[in-house]
Amino acid sequence: MSKKNILVTGCSGYIGSCLLNFFNPNQNIYGLDKKKPSNWVKIKKKNFYQCNLLNKKKLSKILNKINPDLIVHLAAKSTVNEKIKNIDYLKNNFIATKNLISTMNSLNINKIIYSSTAAVYKKKNKLISENDPLFPINKYGKTKLRAERVILNNKNIKSIILRFFNVSSAIKKPLIGELHEPETHLIPIAVSRAMNGKKILINGNDYNTKDGTCIRDYIHIKDICRAIDKSINYLFQNKSSSTIFNIGNGKGLSNKEIIHQLQEVIQKKLIFEYTKRRKGDSAFLVCNINKVKSKLKWRPLYSNIKNILKDDVYWNTYLIRKRIFRKLNDK
Ligand code: UDP
Repeated sequence: MSKKNILVTGCSGYIGSCLLNFFNPNQNIYGLDKKKPSNWVKIKKKNFYQCNLLNKKKLSKILNKINPDLIVHLAAKSTVNEKIKNIDYLKNNFIATKNLISTMNSLNINKIIYSSTAAVYKKKNKLISENDPLFPINKYGKTKLRAERVILNNKNIKSIILRFFNVSSAIKKPLIGELHEPETHLIPIAVSRAMNGKKILINGNDYNTKDGTCIRDYIHIKDICRAIDKSINYLFQNKSSSTIFNIGNGKGLSNKEIIHQLQEVIQKKLIFEYTKRRKGDSAFLVCNINKVKSKLKWRPLYSNIKNILKDDVYWNTYLIRKRIFRKLNDK
């Protein structure tokens, strides 16, 4: 890719941090976030801007200064947690995106890649395609879908919307991985609990699936970064209209299978227990990736489950060595 100015919003979050470490350091990458990036994030100090997307005036000044050719918009309130208020999802996902789009418009910035989610789809027991019905069940999915519409309704801006499925694992070089506060996702929780010899709780075993536990589509963060990178090139090269892609592995694994695979990776018998269902969980959430394979020429390369788990174990080993402990909501 020629030297274009790329701005990543949400560069201090999980996907943003990994993306900055994935990019070639010689590219002109700028980062924007309301929080400072962690020490592991590879970004030049002068290329980071601390700004809340709700502050339109400051945002406009920064965009004017950077003059990005393209924006990768990752900033969001992404954790699904009953303690998070509806208004926080609305502000951080919908209003923030609206501000960004209107500022882009006024400054003639006309390319965006938006990280959306599997949570926008209506529940289905088969592989989900991009044109399947939409019906988000939680506030997170609802506000991400409203943000998608703000982007698509703007005809001056060319966009690629990437609907991510279960993003997981870590990048080993330069090392960076998942560190949410609190952790709510199965893989980081299971890896941390397993490595600490603690019990893993599986939410429900009475679903209508092959082993009664929920099935998800896990995709390695490195494949996510590759998909974003390919989308950037696609937007710069392609004259066709805006488009939406599912980004997942295209294969489902049950919660029980994850435990089994993790057991093999860390070569230790794990302690686990079934508890009640988690509110709002879909039994099956796996995507069809034919569209992204044929149009973007992307396919997952690192998303074999053993690879996903091994890389997360590697990251967690590093965190333990540094005496940084994932927040697991332990009672
Ligand atoms: N899950 C679980 N125990 C945990 C965390 C998650 O059984 O400690 C389950 C969760 O209920 C769901 C699956 O693991 O069935 C994937 O959940 P995650 O939060 O990782 O992803 P999402 O629900 O966003 O697909």
